[in-house]
Amino acid sequence: MAEKGAHLTGTTFIRPSIFEIVAQESFASTVEPAFKKILSFIVSFNIERYGHILRWEDEAFLIFNTILQRHYFNKYSASFSEAFYGLKRIAVSDSKDERNLSNERKKLSLMLIVLFPYIKNKLSRLSQEYKLAEVDGYTPKSKWQKLYRTCIVKGNAIFFMVYEFMVLYNYILYVSGKSPYTSPLLRLLSISLTYAKPEPTISISDLLRKIRDNSFGVSDSIDILQRSTTTFLEFGAFFLQFLSWWSEEHYFTNLLSLPIPPPPKIPETAKRYKGICPICCEAFRVHTVLSVSGYAFCYQCILPVIRRDKKCPVTNYPAKEDDLIRLYLD
Ligand SMILES: [Zn+2]
Repeated sequence: MAEKGAHLTGTTFIRPSIFEIVAQESFASTVEPAFKKILSFIVSFNIERYGHILRWEDEAFLIFNTILQRHYFNKYSASFSEAFYGLKRIAVSDSKDERNLSNERKKLSLMLIVLFPYIKNKLSRLSQEYKLAEVDGYTPKSKWQKLYRTCIVKGNAIFFMVYEFMVLYNYILYVSGKSPYTSPLLRLLSISLTYAKPEPTISISDLLRKIRDNSFGVSDSIDILQRSTTTFLEFGAFFLQFLSWWSEEHYFTNLLSLPIPPPPKIPETAKRYKGICPICCEAFRVHTVLSVSGYAFCYQCILPVIRRDKKCPVTNYPAKEDDLIRLYLD
């Protein structure tokens, strides 16, 4: 660590290796799926009542991410994943005094790190939706609407390609030592990454001494609480990744070795809709089953409902158009 510190005082700063940069970025990309997994797990306890929350999972993550990253930028001058890998952000400048991130740069960093993935996600989801609608044979009535949809679909594809190319280009420049920037977003802010000084930690013996001397104050408790929350969050994220890998690896083998469970009991509501569509209460026109709830409807009845409410009209389970399955009974 001493030789790393020595470089910090010179006109250059020590650059983390590309492996740390890539590891940090891939760790950052696991936070969102982990958050959504936990959210859907919590919601699954009472899906009828809280199922609609899942429609706002992107926004829920946006709020969570803003709080999390804001804390890390204020405390460590680094994002959550950068701090986890012992890195911090510095302004690219020749003089040592200007290296520390100004509040303005911290705010811009926070805005970019939180909003960029959100907008990127929304754009690609919208583009996916328009592409599906086109496959379904839906054509917008007005010329402008059509142009707007084409712009979103084409724009998203071009944007994605250009961005990926720029990420790669930045890596190559960084590895060859020609540029201090590790990603296009950091280039935009003239910010680079370097090693952070290790945090001074209270050892157990220090703690015991403080308690004995009666000098254990509120700030110490807050410090300990903050540190344990951080450690819990960081290891929790790793543990979740491990769990998802584990369940993927063993899902199929375990399923086959399990005994076949009895079929679920038919609920009273299902008996009421026997042989009729729950929406129009008449005989089915085009048998279509909603895979999330198991209820059958006319295709003409259920499609607009799913598009509008994004849930099963009988059970309120969250549902998408993709969950509709045509039954070939006739
Ligand atoms: Zn119907």
